Amino acid sequence: MRIVAIRERTLPISRYADPRLPTGDLNTSAVAIVTDVVRDGKPVIGFGFSSIGRFAQPGLIRERFAPRLLAAQELDPVKAWDHMMTGEKPGGHGERSVAVGTLDMALWDAAAKIHGLPLYRYLQERFGGAQTAPQVPVYAGGGYYFPDTTSVASKTRSAVCSTSSFKIKIGGRPLSDDLRRIEAVLSLLPSRRLAVDAMNRYSREGALAAARALEPFQLRWFEDLSDPLDFETQREIASCYARPIGIGEPTFSASDARNLIRYAGLRPDRDVLLFDPAHCYGLPEYLRIIRLFEDAGWNRGAFQPHGGHLYSLHLAAGLGLGGSEASEGIFQPFGGFSDGARVVDGFISPPEVPGIGFESRAGLIRLFRALATIS
Ligand code: MG
Repeated sequence: MRIVAIRERTLPISRYADPRLPTGDLNTSAVAIVTDVVRDGKPVIGFGFSSIGRFAQPGLIRERFAPRLLAAQELDPVKAWDHMMTGEKPGGHGERSVAVGTLDMALWDAAAKIHGLPLYRYLQERFGGAQTAPQVPVYAGGGYYFPDTTSVASKTRSAVCSTSSFKIKIGGRPLSDDLRRIEAVLSLLPSRRLAVDAMNRYSREGALAAARALEPFQLRWFEDLSDPLDFETQREIASCYARPIGIGEPTFSASDARNLIRYAGLRPDRDVLLFDPAHCYGLPEYLRIIRLFEDAGWNRGAFQPHGGHLYSLHLAAGLGLGGSEASEGIFQPFGGFSDGARVVDGFISPPEVPGIGFESRAGLIRLFRALATIS
């Protein structure tokens, strides 16, 4: 089994369903790993992308990690990970982890296709997870700022119809404005079904003020309060904010996860772990993060991988995690699940096709196939 070629391209991506709204020139890396393995008369091609919300990593993929993978000719994702990291020093994670995670996603897609299994089933078989029906609880992510509170309420109305739970952004405007947005959304759903995400924008004082103001709402969780590496502020908020805290999305390594466990004052009985597997050096490192938390007394049900796309959904189903985000209608064509698949009463299953199932999204697979044929 050989890797014939690795293709990579940077693509624009928008936080909004309307791509004309400014979104900070956000983009992502899409990759295709073309193999000489043939299934159903066609070569197996693994596809991956840099998840959602971080920028593309073309230089790191092209100059370091793809050449190592090609030289190693290793298609087993766990062994390939060691080859990709050859010569890399500990620490200094930066967004190197995103470049590795992007290629890692494509390797898992290829591996599951070679075994003729949906990725979640391949993970269950490989890592001994529960062979249960993969009904994954999901919540609608998004809830970005629009010109007025009516917009966030109307967006919520359509999302709540399908997922029953929702998350909105806060921290980008004065707290009084955010409280009005929260009240607008809470006119549509119970408070324990609404989470808020401050996207790490608060100072210590801002986070304390927000925690005090949010407590009476009894929200589902309060996510990414302040600087991701300011463990002292995280600990201070965890000691005074009784409702769940969501954490982990902007930390990209097992070393960072260990520091969160040691110093952030997290509470295994309620807090939610939002690490993004593709941003965290891919699945091998994500599994190390899960193990660290389990060794510290956590249940893996606390994990709800960030992303809102098919890859995170498979990992939630295959590893027995607590749930997954759903980015329906945003971050297109990557966000969301299979075309026509519906969330029912807050649950959805991954597609029953080999691999991650990008083939079940017409717009996305068209893009990936075009990428694979570029020479
Ligand atoms: Mg977030």
